[in-house]
Amino acid sequence: MPLNVRFYAIRLLLAAALPGIFSACAPAHHQKLLDLTHDFGQETIYWPHNKRFQWEKTDWGMTPAGYWYASANFSASEHGGTHMDAPIHFGRERRTIDQIPLEQLTGPAVVIDVRSRCSGNPDYELTVDDVTAWEAQHGRIQDGTLVFMLSGWGSRWSDPTSYLGSMTPDDPHSLHFPGLSREAAELLVSQRAVRGVGIDTASIDPGRSRDFPVHRLLNEANIYALENVAALEQLPPRGATVWTLPVKIKGGTGGPVRIVAVLP
Ligand SMILES: [Zn+2]
Repeated sequence: MPLNVRFYAIRLLLAAALPGIFSACAPAHHQKLLDLTHDFGQETIYWPHNKRFQWEKTDWGMTPAGYWYASANFSASEHGGTHMDAPIHFGRERRTIDQIPLEQLTGPAVVIDVRSRCSGNPDYELTVDDVTAWEAQHGRIQDGTLVFMLSGWGSRWSDPTSYLGSMTPDDPHSLHFPGLSREAAELLVSQRAVRGVGIDTASIDPGRSRDFPVHRLLNEANIYALENVAALEQLPPRGATVWTLPVKIKGGTGGPVRIVAVLP
């Protein structure tokens, strides 16, 4: 093939291939994204006696050299605000937060809406019937799904008295908010291979729990939990892809997580 013809052929090939390459790499602007994360600040709710979010500016202004410079320090418990519980939280020798495979952090998500049952009962626990009723309407929960329980408690954020269901929210034995039942957790762990479970309350176990069976069941099976999830009411019952990317603390038992849904 003469050189100029070969160049022409290569140009033709590139012209055909490049748009495909770019459409695969470029951000898909038609996709609707939803942030399921509360911001971190002074109002952020933490579990009783856990270190709250602290943020202090160390630099904030024009330098003598004439350029702007801003920086700050932060510290907090791993378990507060919108966060992930790594399997080691309640599962001995299970994965720490940095060890959770990326494949487990992205994939399909479903929302089981039990707001009507929770509204009059702050101690409501998601039942096996709630899960099977959802499946009768929307289809069986597929392997690798992230299951969200929507209690409606997200609208109480960030008033600790209302959100934690107690006039003494610093007392862990006084809390009342919805969570999962042990039986529902058993179903999701042993009969559906879920990749994670999330909720719009402070804990996947209901507030009045003393021995945290849901945490123990999930974490023992290397399944993570997401707590204090925001804006769940805007997520469809099924069809969304959800990314949950926690801070990668080496050996961490949990940590703040940014949760982003790609809506169908
Ligand atoms: Zn936690």
